[in-house]
Amino acid sequence: MRKKLVAGNWKMHGSLAENAALLAAIKPALVGIDAVVCVPFPYLAQAQAVLSGSSITWGAQNLSDQPKGAYTGETSASMLLDFGCRYVIVGHSERRSLYGETDAQVASKYVAAQAAGLTPILCVGETLAERESGVTEAVVSRQLDAVIQAAGVATLAQAIVAYEPVWAIGTGKTASPEQAQAVHAFIRSKIAALDATIANGLVIQYGGSVKASNAAELMAQPDIDGGLIGGASLVADEFIAICRAAAKHE
Ligand code: PEP
Repeated sequence: MRKKLVAGNWKMHGSLAENAALLAAIKPALVGIDAVVCVPFPYLAQAQAVLSGSSITWGAQNLSDQPKGAYTGETSASMLLDFGCRYVIVGHSERRSLYGETDAQVASKYVAAQAAGLTPILCVGETLAERESGVTEAVVSRQLDAVIQAAGVATLAQAIVAYEPVWAIGTGKTASPEQAQAVHAFIRSKIAALDATIANGLVIQYGGSVKASNAAELMAQPDIDGGLIGGASLVADEFIAICRAAAKHE
């Protein structure tokens, strides 16, 4: 049986004071429940200081595909490791749409993360126009294939996939449990055609306006193995409720 894992994506939110309050609230409430917070780079040291020894792990939201060198403004995988990160989000739709990250660049970030021992949370998902024109599976396939071609299907044993329909991110519009389950099942069957064992163990998170009020029915779906949570991960009670809903369906 796969574990369910909830990860919070704080995006570009927070301050030392706000983070201290949020972490102080979630840490005791999630004792014994595996959860992840992906915080902005400057707050990794704070996450490490507060969360070390707890069941909450932490990670980043992006990384460079290069190990070191003249890449002003970039952050390498080994720098993330210095701050105790276990996870890093790659290919978030905001990185793809606002910063022009291509499937190939996302794949090389995935490779760089794994080469350093980090677990990439690989985001895939279609836009509204793509869904309405019936190419959801083709888009998700293309995004996955870029990584599988670059890294090999076996590497998914050390990765998480997050299905995040772009039209549901930050919009308040959640995919129905049936819509989400259908794409999760598609992803798993696509991987199973290459390697059934990898597919069976693969954690596939759902992301897109997950809240305390809709988490239970999403987490109850057989191929939804947790969530990648944006806005609601900044509200302690919401994040705690989502993590508990996921843990209940393990
Ligand atoms: C996200 O940031 O990955 C996300 C899913 O955001 P939200 O939960 O706010 O839709």
